Amino acid sequence: MSMDSAAMSNELPPAEASAPTPAIDMHAHSPSIVPGWLRAVGKKVLSVPTDPLSDLRPGRVDLAVITAVGDPMGTRWRGRSAWAGVVEQLTAARTEAAAAGITVVTDPASIARPGGPAIMLGVEGADTVGTDPQRLTDLHELGVRVLGLVHYADNGLGTIGMSAFGGRGSRAVRAGRRSAGLSPLGKEVVAQMNRLGMLIDLAHADFATTMSTCEHSTAPVVSSHTAASAVQDFPRFISDTEVRAIAATGGLIGLWPARLGKLTLRDVDDFARHAAHLAQLVGAEHLCVGTDMNGVTGYIDGYDGPRCFPTLAPVLATAGFDSAEVHGILGGNALRVLKAALSQENRGSMPCEPGRSVRDRQE
Ligand SMILES: [Zn+2]
Repeated sequence: MSMDSAAMSNELPPAEASAPTPAIDMHAHSPSIVPGWLRAVGKKVLSVPTDPLSDLRPGRVDLAVITAVGDPMGTRWRGRSAWAGVVEQLTAARTEAAAAGITVVTDPASIARPGGPAIMLGVEGADTVGTDPQRLTDLHELGVRVLGLVHYADNGLGTIGMSAFGGRGSRAVRAGRRSAGLSPLGKEVVAQMNRLGMLIDLAHADFATTMSTCEHSTAPVVSSHTAASAVQDFPRFISDTEVRAIAATGGLIGLWPARLGKLTLRDVDDFARHAAHLAQLVGAEHLCVGTDMNGVTGYIDGYDGPRCFPTLAPVLATAGFDSAEVHGILGGNALRVLKAALSQENRGSMPCEPGRSVRDRQE
């Protein structure tokens, strides 16, 4: 429309539509991370929730980080090698996403466009990188953009906050056979992840690994699914000191609506209590949500899987967060941090071997 015709029609030029904030789940899994028979038994006996990726759509989740499990818990039972186990899970996530009409994204530009759902690939437990650092570039080539340094086992990079049996830290650290924290290789991997543009996830890491990573990372880091140990003491939750260190990188603490018996949060009121404590410490702009979809034996009362994602908004509003803060926690903050961490690309040189295809390295 020309200026003249605009004046004649007495219409204002259309306002620049402000982009709506996407809803982002920073930590989730596809159902395939657990063997089918085990999930079937769990569903029958314990009513363990199983949520297909297609449920992201009715839950209006624009982006979910779908995570493969890279420590022996996720790879050993698959036979073959740990690396093959990781690749198998990533392939399964892609297959399930494609079947549900969901795209797999790797770059911040496509995350910024709400209207998904889309998924981004992640791995929790960088055990294969700990035994072969080249695997980091392999994972990047496979589309992985979020990497948890440890899961339920110490590895060549760092040490865990809680064992699979619920004990604090690993047996090796408790027995003094290994010192806690980021190894020299772990420090190199942190630097390389910064250069590659991969977001570092510290969920499952112990205090020493968390603090050292925050000190060395030049990009924001996250702890994608956790809660505040000051509110409720549990080895998987993090201390106020860790919360402050993560926020100081510009990063995020992911609220985790998982229920593990009486050990963790029970209901949405607990969820709100943890959110309020964390926000009071570091500000609501350092919070996000990591639901752990398909990775937990149960959700908190009042939340029942991805279809319920939008119901977290009134929970947070009741806890005193204003509308902008709620939008931030449910996706805006995650978008900001993903953009910052993933756009580290091209920083410095990448010591990868040119011409070596990741396919050559798959077993
Ligand atoms: Zn986890």
